[in-house]
Amino acid sequence: MPSPEPRSTRPCPCGLGPSYADCCRPLHRGRRAGDATAATAERLMRSRYSAFAVGRRDYLLATWHPATRPGSLDLDPDLTWERLEIRGTTDGGDGDRAGTVEFVAHHRDRTTGERGEQHELSAFVHEDGEWFYVAPRG
Ligand SMILES: [Zn+2]
Repeated sequence: MPSPEPRSTRPCPCGLGPSYADCCRPLHRGRRAGDATAATAERLMRSRYSAFAVGRRDYLLATWHPATRPGSLDLDPDLTWERLEIRGTTDGGDGDRAGTVEFVAHHRDRTTGERGEQHELSAFVHEDGEWFYVAPRG
């Protein structure tokens, strides 16, 4: 029986990169080192989804705008994040100060096997050279 793949070569949860190591991990790590940040609002959204999937609470808090950032964040250990679907974006690119990303995050409960989804239109702002998640909109 083949041994399970090491975590670093698994496909990235966000659906973009061939592996987590080459996709969202540098962002998750760089956020701490203060260099690599997501170039667009959608990229930040994807990396935040990955952070939910791999349990990077520090990244989620660090990329949350200080005005709306919660004091702490509890990740539901029973939820497996299975797939991210980006439905649409407005602005959120080069030279923009703000943007929105509409997404559906598909999850499954580890215990019951029950599937669910989180559908949200998220607002992002660009400040001090990086994108931040602000809040759900509408
Ligand atoms: Zn990724």
